[in-house]
Amino acid sequence: MSLPHLTVIDHPLARHLLTRLRDKTTPPEQFRATARRLAYPLVLEATRDLPLREVTVTTPLDIAEGAVLAEALVVIPVLRAGLGLLEAVTDVFPEATVGYAGLARDEETALPHRYYLKLPPLHGRRALVLEPMLATGGSLSETVTLVKEAGGSAITAVCVVAAPEGVARMTADHPDVRIVCAALDDGLTSNFYITPGLGDMGDRLFGT
Ligand code: URA
Repeated sequence: MSLPHLTVIDHPLARHLLTRLRDKTTPPEQFRATARRLAYPLVLEATRDLPLREVTVTTPLDIAEGAVLAEALVVIPVLRAGLGLLEAVTDVFPEATVGYAGLARDEETALPHRYYLKLPPLHGRRALVLEPMLATGGSLSETVTLVKEAGGSAITAVCVVAAPEGVARMTADHPDVRIVCAALDDGLTSNFYITPGLGDMGDRLFGT
C-alpha cells in the first residue's frame, strides 16, 4: 500500500525490535523495554517536520548559526497500549505536554468506548497520538476527532503495527493525519486482532 500520509520506517534496528515484540515468548519486562526502544526511531520519523527557529550561538571558538525547536509538542497516548511509547517521547521532547485518551474497544463489535479524556491546551499545537496497534482504526479516528475538536492541528499518529483496514479508515476519516508505523501487516482476524501482529499490546506490556 503506497499512501502519501503513511510512512513505514525502514531501519534494521526497528525490524530487529519489532521481531522481538512479535515473538510470543518475549516476556512483559523485555516487551516493555523493547517497545520503548522502538518508540525512538518512530518518534524521530514522526517529528521530522517540526518547525525550527534560526538562532546564533557562541561556541568556545566562534559564532555558529543554529536552530532550536520553535514550539512544544502535545503527545496523547491512547490508553493502555500507548503508554508503552510515551516514555521515549518525553525523553526526547521533555517539554512536551501530555494528554490521555482512554478508549476501550468492545471485544465483539470492535467499536471504541471512551472512558477517560484529559487533554492539555491544544489550540494550534502539533500533536502526536500514540496508538501502537492500528487495527480497525476506530479508536485512533475517535481520538483524532477529539484532538481536532480541542483545537489540535498537524496531527501525526505513531503506531507500531498497522493493518490495511485501519489505514483505510484513517484515510477516509482523517486524510490530513500522517501515520508513522514500523510495519503494515496483512489484515485483521475475525475478532479484529492484527495478523500476524503481536497479540494484545496492552496485555503484553502489562502482563495481564
Ligand atoms: N489491539 C491490540 O493490542 N492488538 C491488536 O492486534 C489489535 C488491537
